[in-house]
Amino acid sequence: TGKLPFEALSVETLATRLGTNEALCARIGKDSGAWKVREVGDGNLNLVFIVEGASGAAVVKQALPYVRLVGDSWPLPLKRSFFEYHALIRQEARAPGSVPAIYHFDEAQALIIMEYLAPPHIILRRALIDGRQLPNIARDIGLFMARTLFRGSDLSMPTKDRKADLALFADNVELCGITEDLVFSDPYFNAKLNRHTSPQLDGLVAELRADRDLKVEAQRLKHIFAANAETLLHGDLHSGSIMVTDTETRMIDPEFAFYGPIAFDVGMLLANFWMSFFSQRGHEENGKRDAMRAYLLGVTAETWAMFRAEFSHLWRSERTGMLYQKSLFEDQGDILASEQALDHVLHQIWTDLLGFAGIEVHRRILGLAHNADFETIADEDLRASCEAKALKFGRHIAVNRRQILGMDEVNNLAALIE
Ligand code: ADP
Ligand code: MG
Ligand code: MG
Ligand code: MG
Repeated sequence: TGKLPFEALSVETLATRLGTNEALCARIGKDSGAWKVREVGDGNLNLVFIVEGASGAAVVKQALPYVRLVGDSWPLPLKRSFFEYHALIRQEARAPGSVPAIYHFDEAQALIIMEYLAPPHIILRRALIDGRQLPNIARDIGLFMARTLFRGSDLSMPTKDRKADLALFADNVELCGITEDLVFSDPYFNAKLNRHTSPQLDGLVAELRADRDLKVEAQRLKHIFAANAETLLHGDLHSGSIMVTDTETRMIDPEFAFYGPIAFDVGMLLANFWMSFFSQRGHEENGKRDAMRAYLLGVTAETWAMFRAEFSHLWRSERTGMLYQKSLFEDQGDILASEQALDHVLHQIWTDLLGFAGIEVHRRILGLAHNADFETIADEDLRASCEAKALKFGRHIAVNRRQILGMDEVNNLAALIE
């Protein structure tokens, strides 16, 4: 298919079109007439097929030339598949075992053939809505973020390689533009595609959109996002981009990959745990979720602690890039200088991640792309009361991020607001 012009796959055509694909046949069996194909994409952007053959199954993910959620009135480049593929390859190298195995990439057809994460794998967001306490997510996600974000930066890479990679991903303009608009700007004015639970939230939404300090802070964060090309980000690291079992954690869907600030992935991810926390009140029909709420705050603390521990370990053991050179610090016998610099770097990540987390909460309630944690609460008054608490929490951590000293303070605030 590599030479033919792009054509969207369908359940009907997939077996014929990919029946001669060697990588796929090797995985699932050559008898393509017997393949069973299902389309399971629940995302906003792309097609995702599960293909089952005589000897196994695989996932075929294909980009469309437009935004699936909106339709062909909103064109979007197929090249996002190229960025997703290249991000997956780098994530596997930097954090082995953390993403699905990649079997094949076809740039012209904008399709990636990858490992099928079969049941009991489930999207993390679904598991959290169901009230499941997964024991390993904080450790696994903390390690993933520390390894990918450290190893993709000038703390680790030869700077020539990092600059070449920066150039490669710099072309992911349109997906980056979605983040720039939908996350940092649209929630704070009456943008066309926005929606919120109405009329219940109308008053609070008007208040937030008139909140000068909040709007300025959101734009300062956008400035950091755009100007601080520190490392290769996943770019869309929410709980819908993570598949889990009780023992395994895999990150998927890095099509928004871009060079940006370390704190962006960490803040977006933690925001999703805090949103899950505030949404639990809406999912108590089969019993109280007190233990689940305590678990979720524990997960935020443990994820950040794991991230810090691994980042610090890599700082001490793998700091081979051109920043904070060992030749200036450890090699001169000045280990304290290295530790002092590490403290500064971690403190900056902390301060910025609170900002990114706060506005991520806002955009999921005020913007275009909502999340199932709140959307699946059928009672609109109940949903609005959960969302209102999350909005106030988000506003506080975004605007006061420089004054907040640690995770306990944030989680105490969350518990108080809840
Ligand atoms: P989008 O970019 O459109 O959001 P995703 O990559 O997030 O697409 O995939 C959409 C859905 O397809 C996921 O929520 C998940 O349910 C399913 N999916 C994606 N990749 C896999 C995989 N490797 N194994 C199993 N299911 C997958
Ligand atoms: Mg997705
Ligand atoms: Mg999605
Ligand atoms: Mg996606």
